[in-house]
Amino acid sequence: MTPDYNTLLLAIALSGFCLSATLFASWLSSRVERFLLSWSIGIGCIVPAVAVYSIYFSNPDFRIGCLAFMLQFLGFAFIYGAAYRFRTGKSARRRIVLLFTVSTFVSVPWLVVGYDGIGFIMLNVMIAGALVATAREYWRGRAEAPRPLTGMVVLYLLTAFSFVLCAAALIHGRQWVLGRAPDNWAENLNLVVAIVGITGIGAMSLALNQWRVAGNHQRAANTDALTGLLNRRALFERHGDEAIGPHRAAIAFDLDNFKSVNDRYGHAAGDVVLKVFADILGEVCGAAASVARLGGEEFVVVLDRTLPDRAQHVAERVRADFAAKLIPIGRRSISCTVSAGIAFGGEHCTSFDSLLSNADKALYTSKRNGRNRVSLAA
Ligand code: GH3
Ligand code: MG
Ligand code: MG
Repeated sequence: MTPDYNTLLLAIALSGFCLSATLFASWLSSRVERFLLSWSIGIGCIVPAVAVYSIYFSNPDFRIGCLAFMLQFLGFAFIYGAAYRFRTGKSARRRIVLLFTVSTFVSVPWLVVGYDGIGFIMLNVMIAGALVATAREYWRGRAEAPRPLTGMVVLYLLTAFSFVLCAAALIHGRQWVLGRAPDNWAENLNLVVAIVGITGIGAMSLALNQWRVAGNHQRAANTDALTGLLNRRALFERHGDEAIGPHRAAIAFDLDNFKSVNDRYGHAAGDVVLKVFADILGEVCGAAASVARLGGEEFVVVLDRTLPDRAQHVAERVRADFAAKLIPIGRRSISCTVSAGIAFGGEHCTSFDSLLSNADKALYTSKRNGRNRVSLAA
């Protein structure tokens, strides 16, 4: 073994160990992003794999080789699992087991029967395959953070390519039987690429984790916790500074006699009613509208490119669906109604504040006229 090669192995083991520890620590701090845990386990397997491999380098006993192979397969299977988990949020346990098992079965037997060269070719091909599959997962999920994820894809593909070169060098030399660890230019290149890949990917994984955590905070800050609708702040962030044209409509809703629901059936029952109403709003208005809970039992829907007929239709359908809904509370069912007011942008209404205030006035016309109805602003 040349000292250079040994130094490179040591560098991989050390950078891998530090990264694994860092990723594990950042997983521990939130315990939300399980992909970090998978990744740190993956690298955590590759560190001992490298150590075992360096023993194999000076003492090419096939049992030591088998152990180094299997630790590497386990490591790369977990790294693939991390990518799958990152993209889908689902457990990758079965995929990890499958990848590890297949990789082991197509390469380790060659080592055992003495065709260690073929074993190494298979090892390199399987690892390259796992890395390409990993890159594919990040590529499919790249919409979340295009630049860092494309960077990850490039690093994974580069690392995969260096493993392909290792296999190619052995095939080119027809080295089916080696009797020792392969030692050629491709192996050296592979180690350098692995160091760059591990550190680069590790740093980007941490950045991605931060990105996700920040995104979750942002979403929570803009969401009404009870109903999952937009909250007041998010609604004003979206529309507050907008110039309001004639095709912009706002519908204000306020549940009727809601205080008496709370008084009669309790606050928890009131919350159920609010959720049922929010669901109806979501179903009727669709994704194109901004649907928000302003607070208490007051809601607003903002529609874009809307003709008066459509706004009226939406408001009327929400009102009718809600009035017809039997809401199970304990062992009985209750019903409740809602009043609505519709306003459009126009010559005398060009700001979002005035649009809401007009919708509110129309809403109070509905209340005055007996509730459970829809009114259009003058
Ligand atoms: P009106 O038909 O005139 O709108 O009468 P109302 O009883 O609906 O109006 P009021 O403003 O008097 O009462 C609103 C009630 O909404 C009072 C408050 O206890 C209740 N409320 C506000 N926020 C919540 C909430 O998050 N959960 C529950 N359960 N009740 C809430
Ligand atoms: Mg109210
Ligand atoms: Mg009310």
